[in-house]
Amino acid sequence: MEHGDLSARVDPAGGPELSELARGFNSMAAALDRNEELRRRMVTDVAHELRAPLTNIRSELESIQDGLSMPTRERIDSLHQETMHLARLVDDLQDLALAEAGRLEIHPEKVAVATLVRRSTAGMDIATEGPEDLMVMADPTRAVQVLQNLLTNAMAHGDGVRVVWQRQDDEAMIQVIDRGAGIPSEELGRIFERFYRVDPSRSRHTGGAGLGLSIVKQLVSAHGGRVWAESVVGEGSTFSFTLKIG
Ligand code: ADP
Repeated sequence: MEHGDLSARVDPAGGPELSELARGFNSMAAALDRNEELRRRMVTDVAHELRAPLTNIRSELESIQDGLSMPTRERIDSLHQETMHLARLVDDLQDLALAEAGRLEIHPEKVAVATLVRRSTAGMDIATEGPEDLMVMADPTRAVQVLQNLLTNAMAHGDGVRVVWQRQDDEAMIQVIDRGAGIPSEELGRIFERFYRVDPSRSRHTGGAGLGLSIVKQLVSAHGGRVWAESVVGEGSTFSFTLKIG
């Protein structure tokens, strides 16, 4: 193991104390091996996600350099869009890395759920319903980020999007509901994993890298809350999360 072979294990033979030690060693080795595999996959996934927008930008620019296309307003707008996509991806990755290292800073304050919802839905045609005076302890910027991520997904996958909230014991439960395509039950357990996409080709088209929900999950748990999804294919999905009452 010292030389980097994380698959090395020892034979738990010998007396009870030695075999106990060997088992301890083996489970530590397995944990190291697993973390190394996760790290490798993360780097490959990140490289993969960055490649597509970079390739688009590069080929557009080269075609202009070679005089094959003109730098029209339209092309510059499209280059700008790809650049924004890259910037968002890098922001998301940074949030995720901080959150997973437990270093995401949360500045909770007493704030009305209605205020968070209004900020998240400003300028959008979305029905909202819940008590005006329900207060939670939350970092307003981060809570709005959670809602916006859920709303972006809901609007990308369906219509009739609504936000409803209510008090449940010492928590507030906030739900983003859509009447959309829904999510097959075998996928529901995985959508909060990073880089997980239900339909990669469609999702790429809408610009998602499969990071939105993993960020939502990290942000909600950093607040001490829970998040989950329910869905019926052909009917729609409901994403719910809880925040502590303020
Ligand atoms: P992305 O940024 O690619 O949308 P997310 O982590 O936000 O990634 O979502 C993970 C997967 O869950 C995506 O493939 C998306 O298609 C699916 N998904 C998320 N929200 C909904 C929804 N409201 N209805 C149907 N599918 C959804």
